[in-house]
Amino acid sequence: MYRKQLTERKELPGFVWGSDSDFELNTLWKRELSESYRSVSDFPESFIPGRKEKSYLKTPGRNFGFSVPRDYFSLAGDDENDPIRLQFMPRSDEFKIKEYETSDPLGENQYKVTERLIHRYPDRALFIASDLCAMYCRHCFRRDYLAANPSPLLESEIEAAASYLKNHTEVKELIVSGGDPLILDDRKIANLLSSFRLVRPDIVFRIATRIPVVLPSRITTSLLKILSDFKPLFVITQYNHPLELTDRSVKAVKDLVNNGIPVMNQTVLLKDVNDSEDVLADLFQKLISFSIKPYYLFQGDLAAGTSHLRVPILRGIEIMKNLRTRISGLALPVYAVDLPMGGGKVPLTESFIDRISDNEVILKDGKGKEYAYPLESYPEGQG
Ligand code: SF4
Repeated sequence: MYRKQLTERKELPGFVWGSDSDFELNTLWKRELSESYRSVSDFPESFIPGRKEKSYLKTPGRNFGFSVPRDYFSLAGDDENDPIRLQFMPRSDEFKIKEYETSDPLGENQYKVTERLIHRYPDRALFIASDLCAMYCRHCFRRDYLAANPSPLLESEIEAAASYLKNHTEVKELIVSGGDPLILDDRKIANLLSSFRLVRPDIVFRIATRIPVVLPSRITTSLLKILSDFKPLFVITQYNHPLELTDRSVKAVKDLVNNGIPVMNQTVLLKDVNDSEDVLADLFQKLISFSIKPYYLFQGDLAAGTSHLRVPILRGIEIMKNLRTRISGLALPVYAVDLPMGGGKVPLTESFIDRISDNEVILKDGKGKEYAYPLESYPEGQG
């Protein structure tokens, strides 16, 4: 169906890729998106900015987009250190730039192979489908270009990426990211996925999105149909706090899962949001109860102006060590960091191997008790 649509689209006279389509006009999610708060002056009168928030608002030169859907905003408490509020509300700490923070903390630019395609790992590539998000998370590592100069996704950009993928069959998975790819309308998403599937019938899609968390009404019946048509396809969400698992959000995820779309979650470890064993254990256990697999817990990236939200890495390791003895392997994500300067993603695990002798390895459990495990070798002629 979408292959046909792709062909027909190219025949439309004057069609501009990325322009508004007549697909799904006036749906609830578009209305909710358009009613998002885009400035603090939009907030209800009852909202009182905190000291650091006020200080940010008074300072000229603010550089990162601001938008928060009303539903997500309603989850926030009155305290400026509320875990939901910290994720969308700017504060003066954003002006403090550490010398090791950069605008491209993952070093992605050096791996750009086309305008919107990043090929960092041999078997995976990442396509930046949109420069916009339903909500601008203050910890975002792509904060430097998001919303600053948004440009519509062009057909030529999709074609360039498709052509690269056609010639690079070592790429087995395509991460469709952004910004948020699900902020695009249905027709654009369908055309995008069909363009890649057309040249690479074998490719696995990963859709990286915060939409089920911040704008769950976007998970419409027609979107579910599109995503289902492009399996194998995984949706990767970003729940950072148990309060984000609202009834509406959980329903959106259930709709995905019930349509055969696996949902995995990447949590960002954030100071005063979730840097506690209790909060994370609650989050991860709730996630699996809703059929969402906790996939990664990310150490904060060294994005400029985000140090106030980063958790010291040793505290992160300690949290994971404590969680390991507390929650199941199914509920436990991998704690990882994206190395600066393009070094790639590496897991951050404390070692359970204490020492290795000639005939055994000494392992320690989470409480420090030692256990010996024999060093065997393959039987002769095998291995
Ligand atoms: S939704 Fe993702 S890309 Fe968008 S601001 Fe949040 S973290 Fe960044």
